[in-house]
Amino acid sequence: MSRTGLCQICEAATASRACDRCGRAVCDDHWDETARACTACVAGRR
Ligand SMILES: [Zn+2]
Ligand SMILES: [Zn+2]
Repeated sequence: MSRTGLCQICEAATASRACDRCGRAVCDDHWDETARACTACVAGRR
């Protein structure tokens, strides 16, 4: 688990979170603190 890198959604910002549901590394912009999941997962389950 030494891969720190870019957000796997926008690929522009540094990932600071990892989604438990899909395993993606995502940046703050693509992290939903309320749902505790990435925005891709949140969008799929409104
Ligand atoms: Zn992002
Ligand atoms: Zn996710």
